Amino acid sequence: MLATSNQRWLMSVVWVSLIQILFVSATHVTAEEPMQSSTDTEVIITYLANEGIMVSSGDKHVLVDALFRSRIPGYDHHDKDIQTKLESAKEPFDKINAILVTHYHADHFSVDAVTQHLINNHNTLLVTFEQVAERMQENSSDYEKVKAQIRSHVPTTDAASIDESSGVRIEVIKLSHGGGRFAETRNMGFIIHLGGKRILHIGDSQISKACFVNH
Ligand SMILES: [Zn+2]
Repeated sequence: MLATSNQRWLMSVVWVSLIQILFVSATHVTAEEPMQSSTDTEVIITYLANEGIMVSSGDKHVLVDALFRSRIPGYDHHDKDIQTKLESAKEPFDKINAILVTHYHADHFSVDAVTQHLINNHNTLLVTFEQVAERMQENSSDYEKVKAQIRSHVPTTDAASIDESSGVRIEVIKLSHGGGRFAETRNMGFIIHLGGKRILHIGDSQISKACFVNH
């Protein structure tokens, strides 16, 4: 299920605003352009497509909502070369500590794309929550090969769940995708601690004070 165009527009504006506030530097990677390298303290945000980004600092790299395959009209998607590198865990995606998935919508997550990356890099962990983990278990034809790499969290409205198993401190926070037709869709946010900074990704969260007041 997807948000209406107005909802998507509002979420995009807020999301981009958060990036502008929190992100130290950003770049957009294409098939033709090499990525920037980062120092130990510098944090680099690489925009990939839709809400997919890579956050890097030193030798730490985290993908958020980047492993998807959908090509829904009106939504940005990866070009073929980037898609192949993402799924085959090839440079610049060959040293990913953690894949974060905010929710299971097709413009954020593909069971097969995540499975392929995990198979191609056994050092990468999937850090997410139960609805995404369930879909991995139910729909991944190679689930047995990757299940040890999955970290499923159950944060509460009041308290984040902390994951440091990938070598990166990640706070998983419970947000809301909204009511109505999205009432059953759970949406997590992530606070990524890298380079002495905290980078927030909220997925398709509803924008309300109640969602964020405890974080
Ligand atoms: Zn969504």
